[in-house]
Amino acid sequence: MAEKFDLIVIGGGPGGYVAAIRAAQLGLRTACIDPFTGKDGKPAPGGTCLNVGCIPSKALLDSSKHYHHLQNDYGAHGISVKDAAMDVTTMIARKDGIVKKLTGGVSQLFKGNKVAYFHGKGRLLAGKLVELTPSDGGEVQQLEAGQIILASGSVPIQIPNVEFDGEYIVDNVGALDFDAVPASLGVIGAGVVGLELGSVWKRLGSEVILLEALPDFLTMADKDVSKLAAREFKKQGLDIRLGTLVKGAVVNKDKVTVTLEDGEGESQLSFDRLLVSVGRKPYTEGLLDEGCGVQLNERGQIQVDDQSRSTAPGVWAIGDCVRGPMLAHKASEEGIAVAELIAGKPAHIHFDTVPWVVYTEPEIAWVGKTEQELQDAGIDYKAGSFPFAANGRALAGGNPAGLVKMLADAETDEILGVHILGANASELISECVVAMEFQGSSEDLARIVHAHPTLSEAVHEAALHVDKRAIHRGN
Ligand code: FAD
Ligand code: NAD
Repeated sequence: MAEKFDLIVIGGGPGGYVAAIRAAQLGLRTACIDPFTGKDGKPAPGGTCLNVGCIPSKALLDSSKHYHHLQNDYGAHGISVKDAAMDVTTMIARKDGIVKKLTGGVSQLFKGNKVAYFHGKGRLLAGKLVELTPSDGGEVQQLEAGQIILASGSVPIQIPNVEFDGEYIVDNVGALDFDAVPASLGVIGAGVVGLELGSVWKRLGSEVILLEALPDFLTMADKDVSKLAAREFKKQGLDIRLGTLVKGAVVNKDKVTVTLEDGEGESQLSFDRLLVSVGRKPYTEGLLDEGCGVQLNERGQIQVDDQSRSTAPGVWAIGDCVRGPMLAHKASEEGIAVAELIAGKPAHIHFDTVPWVVYTEPEIAWVGKTEQELQDAGIDYKAGSFPFAANGRALAGGNPAGLVKMLADAETDEILGVHILGANASELISECVVAMEFQGSSEDLARIVHAHPTLSEAVHEAALHVDKRAIHRGN
């Protein structure tokens, strides 16, 4: 007899584990199945995000930032340090400790909320049955549920003639675990992963070259921001080569030789390590049994409607395996919304106000439309901006780079988009998300008291500048 649940969640990333906890809070008898295993061999729920994504990358960004500042910026404060050295093993162990703490935390949350956690792989069969293959080699069993949420996440895209080997040619997993600073690192794809992990190893001393196929840099960001960001990254020594097509890579004598084609024809570059970060694709391998009724779309994503219902009744799908941005907070909010819908509550997600953050230095963050999107859609807008170079706190903290740019409807003044390049942009964007969620205007933000001296005054000034009444810049 199959064990019965109200809800089975397949996948324990930020989409799945959050959905399971919320459902359990709402009184549903809930199970969550996930196969992730930590470096210590123990179950490690939390998916890509906690194990090999958001959290470990931020841990390394933080460690490398300290080292970089020590080398380059402390002198200006009158601080001199002799013989500073980087011990990569300690840095990686710190990162692993943070991951272990957080995945252990998810296990505890499962216990605390009475979520039945199965360490293994789930396969959806017809009739809302799930086949569970335990990771410890135990007996395959069947579980049954009234409702099912699929949250199987995504995996890195591989490109032709560039085979991952886990040592020289790596994806995010390998680049989060180098045991020494590679003298040179090639990065295919100057997107979010390439910029973040490229920054980590550059700060620690690698020569980093990013090979980007598109002729433009960071195309999903506002053009003013991506142009300024490219300038900042160049100053830091990140060598970003646009319009560069990689044709193949081979490993020979501890080196990776990459054949590429750019405006000047075909050439070759050699690196100690090569990171391939050209995007991710939904992961559904082994997830769907024939006859389960769940369809994929032409992009390999699980087909869902606006409220995350799949094509099979009672089966939902969330996170990276469905349409929409591949972001942890998007996955989690979808998980909460679906759990609430299953429990009979109203729920919705406002995809227009999902913020994006790139954790480089300076950080890049945005919400809503870019100026180009507004132009393409023929929407009349007003723009305001404010540079951090004119913000007292930014100067005091040694962070003068970047700006805040705000876009508002020309007639109603409703905020349509905010784009930030600067220190703590990841935190500053929240105020703008809240304003947009409440359909706030630039005048609303302009009238709100912002503490002095704070970086958030730049948001305030950008809002004032929409109406050409900024105080600390020309209008
Ligand atoms: P996942 O986190 O991928 O989790 C899916 C889980 O399902 C996995 O544990 C998988 O093993 C499991 N699974 C798959 N198939 C089955 C099956 N058949 N049975 C049982 N379990 C299964 N996003 C941000 O918002 N901010 C960031 O700073 C950020 N940084 C990132 C850095 C890197 C290097 C990478 C690679 C990604 C980053 N992301 C970031 C993206 C973020 O990790 C994903 O958007 C997020 O993890 C998606 O959550 P998810 O729950 O949909 O999928
Ligand atoms: P990405 O889509 O951000 O960037 C991939 C880049 O590779 C693009 O610029 C693309 O033009 C380029 N590219 C594609 N094919 C190429 C080729 N053959 N040769 C050279 N360049 C090529 O993808 P990613 O950096 O791999 O990250 C995957 C996803 O993970 C992101 O889209 C994002 O959703 C998520 N993520 C988020 C964060 C964050 O929120 N801070 C951090 C990391 C990852």
